Amino acid sequence: MKNVWISDVQTGQFDGQSVELKGWIKRSRGSSKIHFIVLRDSTGTIQCVGKREDLGDESFQNFKAALIESSVILHGHVNVDERAEGGHEISIQSISIIGAVDAERPFPITESAMVSSDGGETEFLLDNRHLYLRTSRMTKMLQVRSSVFGAIHSYFRQRKFTEYQAPNFVAGAVEGGSTLFEVPYFGKKAYLTQSWQLYAEAAMPALERLYTIAPSFRAEKSRTRRHLTEFWHAEMEVAWANNAEIMQYGEELVRHISTTLLEERSEELKSFDRDLGLIERYAENQYPRMRYDEAVETLQSMGIEIEWGQDLDYSKEKVLTQDFDVPHFLTHYPKVAKPFYHRVDPDDGNYVLCHDLLAPEGYGEIIGGGERTWTEEEILHRIDEEGVPREPNQFYIDIRSYGGVPHGGFGLGVDRVCSWLTGAEHIREVIPFPRDSRRVTP
Ligand code: ATP
Ligand code: MG
Repeated sequence: MKNVWISDVQTGQFDGQSVELKGWIKRSRGSSKIHFIVLRDSTGTIQCVGKREDLGDESFQNFKAALIESSVILHGHVNVDERAEGGHEISIQSISIIGAVDAERPFPITESAMVSSDGGETEFLLDNRHLYLRTSRMTKMLQVRSSVFGAIHSYFRQRKFTEYQAPNFVAGAVEGGSTLFEVPYFGKKAYLTQSWQLYAEAAMPALERLYTIAPSFRAEKSRTRRHLTEFWHAEMEVAWANNAEIMQYGEELVRHISTTLLEERSEELKSFDRDLGLIERYAENQYPRMRYDEAVETLQSMGIEIEWGQDLDYSKEKVLTQDFDVPHFLTHYPKVAKPFYHRVDPDDGNYVLCHDLLAPEGYGEIIGGGERTWTEEEILHRIDEEGVPREPNQFYIDIRSYGGVPHGGFGLGVDRVCSWLTGAEHIREVIPFPRDSRRVTP
């Protein structure tokens, strides 16, 4: 077991005491008599110094020879030292190298490789992703990510939502056939799920308020800064709610995530040079609603070519959201732009009762949601109108034949939210092992 964490030493809990530290060598330098390392663990870093006269020749020699990323256990005295990063320094009394690094194969990710890599995006760093995870930026990113997951769970659980799991092997499409991953399934074909939604709707009459955080799979051919082929999807479904009420949940959730990050991860965000004032703004303010038609007019007035009826792709969302001060909801998309399950607006059959939440600073869509087509008659009409096969969706039709009720929900791209709130250049930066059309390794 490990009992002492570097962050606790740095906050002064062990001043003047002897401690046992376990961690990895991050940096190393010294002379024939005195040697310094920066030790890191999951909580931080601390400078440690060892002298030949204290350690003895053999131990000092081993210490000096230990390469970057060797794991060590050391005993030492905690000194307050203003000059050291974090304000403390350990004078080492004894040290053992636990996992040595072979001098023939030193740790490949050097600080210069990181600096020249435009934020960790080179192929080299992706090839070495299994090692890149332990760099300070990625460690912090994973910690922020964990807080985002925690915030989503706490948001829904505080509101008495039930966490519910849907299958990942499915027979039909949710988001259209072009991004379906087909998998052989005992002589038949199956697909990896694009969304939890259709199976969540089946449980809606049982649970009424339900959510999940699960992977969704989409065969995105084009590689963009916001698409993965496997991404983490936080989805919710709620009975008896309309589009405006569902948006309210989405807004509260995103504001709750922002608040949680300010409480739990301010230091990490600052280390990414993130302006915390922005996150405060996203946490504290209401998010405006805007109809799709208004967004199209705005884009047209900016000289962007867009025809009514087109879905907004990234290039358009980027322009539209560049000057947003907070996230904005876009509502009432044309029916032709959206899949069959979106409920047609009873006031105007050209539109559906849906929403996308677009994040500012050019990030664009982070949530897609809305009311569902909920009567049997309407769903059959929409399925046939869109040319969707009835057979794999029979269960979905059945739900409406036995006590259908108005309901809806949304899906939030967790990786996209992490990317936006951390100010990442690319969605790859926020997930440990990113998957895209070219990469399934390591
Ligand atoms: P886009 O138009 O950006 O491809 P979409 O409209 O297909 O997204 P939805 O089907 O509405 O996305 O999915 C709900 C949410 O899931 C999106 O708002 C987004 O945050 C996230 N998402 C969708 N596809 C991806 C992907 N390939 N990688 C990461 N997140 C995604
Ligand atoms: Mg969408």
